[in-house]
Amino acid sequence: MFFRNHRQAPHLSLVFAILAAAIAISSCGQNQPVGVAAGAKLTAGSTKADEQICTLKDGEAKTFKGHNLPTTPTNYRISRDSVGSRIQYHLLLNFKFVDRRSSPDANINASMKARARACIAVAEPFLTGPNDERLLIRLTDGPSEAAELPETEISIVEGQPRDSSAIWRADIECPLMIHEIFHHLGLVDEYAELSATQTTAVDLGESDSAKVATLYDCRSTGPSDSLMAFQSVAFLSVSENNQQIECVCPKLAECSEALSKLKGDPGECPIGSKSKVIYSVSRYETDFSGVQSTVQRGTVDADAEKYRLGKLLEEKTIYRFSRTIAPARTSLLLPAQFRSVIHPGCQPLNELYHKCAANAYRTSVEHGGEGCIKDTPSQCNDQSTDWLR
Ligand SMILES: [Zn+2]
Repeated sequence: MFFRNHRQAPHLSLVFAILAAAIAISSCGQNQPVGVAAGAKLTAGSTKADEQICTLKDGEAKTFKGHNLPTTPTNYRISRDSVGSRIQYHLLLNFKFVDRRSSPDANINASMKARARACIAVAEPFLTGPNDERLLIRLTDGPSEAAELPETEISIVEGQPRDSSAIWRADIECPLMIHEIFHHLGLVDEYAELSATQTTAVDLGESDSAKVATLYDCRSTGPSDSLMAFQSVAFLSVSENNQQIECVCPKLAECSEALSKLKGDPGECPIGSKSKVIYSVSRYETDFSGVQSTVQRGTVDADAEKYRLGKLLEEKTIYRFSRTIAPARTSLLLPAQFRSVIHPGCQPLNELYHKCAANAYRTSVEHGGEGCIKDTPSQCNDQSTDWLR
């Protein structure tokens, strides 16, 4: 039985804004983490002893074998070392790609592994913990290494299915692939299933679209820039943004003095002028799209361009410059997600995350489901991101 989750990845407007609307492509898989744990700091209810038991030391490794989802095994090997004072966690996954398309590609396992490695390399600088720990994800290479771990089979299918952790399209874009990989590392979805579509209904064998739209309504949601909510927004949040700015004087007299003092390239608009972002492109769109991101490089919107040109006739553009906006975040992972991945099987240190995550694939009784788990901590339900801290 496959559940196909569906979600929307955002897409960028390049005019006057870094991030505009969301649309997009589906994704998802499901995962309910069983165990997992710990991190840089103790969570409520945990003890120092829990931390000591749960935390790997340099040179240690363990293999976590769980089955947290209806269809998704969470099997990986984790080991720890350090470079200088920086802790590194190495995560090994044993994926096997199987081509289920009508004309199977005999080389699919190798080619999808190559794509996955390329996407992982793009994400790697942004897979860090609260104390700048690194997560280094690797796929098994060769039979002896693969023999250490149960195989995780991922089907490659054609058409436009809703991707899940176990079903990918061959051209799955990197942000979505990274989202799905983290399902295999035990993380759950955090977006509201309100965007369920008829396709999803068909996948689920459910013809009642109202019922589909309330699917998994017990789920605790995360912020839109979470990798497990909207992966493209998450990638945007770690991307620097290159902008071109125009400085406009509504009346030339109002900034003529500043203009007369404008020398060199000050990198800001002179006093009296207004700044307008006329072009904004994220590193996400340029660098990351090289390995097929969801976002297409855009052009300036036609109407916006006309507006801009019209304004140029009335107002005076006195100066143009480029600037780079620093990313909003440094990591794709929120602290609780990171702890969950680095401490598999350790309940005490991930108690809150697990309690909230336990409702991720449940539907309320009033909407035809088996009902939500009651008495979850208030942090799961208050629309905040507390459960992910
Ligand atoms: Zn998902």
